[in-house]
Amino acid sequence: MSLDQQHALITGANRGIGAAIARHLARAGADCSLLVRDPASAGSLAAELRALGRRVAVVAADVTDTAALDRAIAEAVAALGPVDVLVNNAGFAETRPFLKSDDALYERLLAVHLMAPVHAARAVLPSMVARGRGRIVNIASVAGVAGGAYIAAYAAAKHAMVGLTRALAAEFRGQGVLVNAVCPGYTDTDLVRDSVARIVAKTGLPTDQAMATILRDAGQSRLVTVDEVAEATLAFARPDATASGEAAVLLGR
Ligand code: NAD
Repeated sequence: MSLDQQHALITGANRGIGAAIARHLARAGADCSLLVRDPASAGSLAAELRALGRRVAVVAADVTDTAALDRAIAEAVAALGPVDVLVNNAGFAETRPFLKSDDALYERLLAVHLMAPVHAARAVLPSMVARGRGRIVNIASVAGVAGGAYIAAYAAAKHAMVGLTRALAAEFRGQGVLVNAVCPGYTDTDLVRDSVARIVAKTGLPTDQAMATILRDAGQSRLVTVDEVAEATLAFARPDATASGEAAVLLGR
């Protein structure tokens, strides 16, 4: 199996895209650290991955709390060894008109989508460089490479994540560490279902019409699946991968 004996650490792994990534990496052979805010929320996924024969550590942190993030990564390393694959997935979306977006919104989105990946990369890169191999995959968004109405803060934070990805790729390419971003469009998770519920509450549109409207405006004919995002992540994480500095857009067409 391609990720046999490798340790993958996935942030926000208890549900949605993060859980799908953990499943795909574990099926490919990886031992997995599930970094989550609430350890109880990852219990059944951990059991599922252990049933595949993988070693699993569940470690707790809010990724925007730097000390807690450092502690959680250190616990994961103590349990499963140095991190071979880091997936920065934890995040959230919030839409607001630009003129109603205060600094605090930018700070919260930058904390989770830029500074948490910076701190996690800083924690794992020294051992990746020392061993001459490593993979970092950042789950950005199509909003990391394109704009859109009402998403200035989210798009700015995801563009920052993609910029970080490309800069780290350039800096560490010669040292066996590949850094890439996956940029999905609207994906079938609670995050999108919650956004649609907010549109329904505001506009009174039926749910299917609200969903059809956001997909049409985004140029998508359907939601991206979590498995598509996980497969793209696995492709970047494989030991035989060569791409670095890519921002792979998935639009579910
Ligand atoms: P989700 O809400 O289902 O899952 C997000 C996960 O991140 C949850 O487990 C949540 O607890 C965790 N998380 C959020 N903030 C955290 C924090 N401060 N510390 C620790 N954990 C935290 O959402 P999802 O759709 O699976 O999104 C995963 C990633 O994919 C996010 O970064 C999101 O921006 C990105 N993304 C999602 C979509 C989409 O349409 N669903 C599209 C493009 C990109």
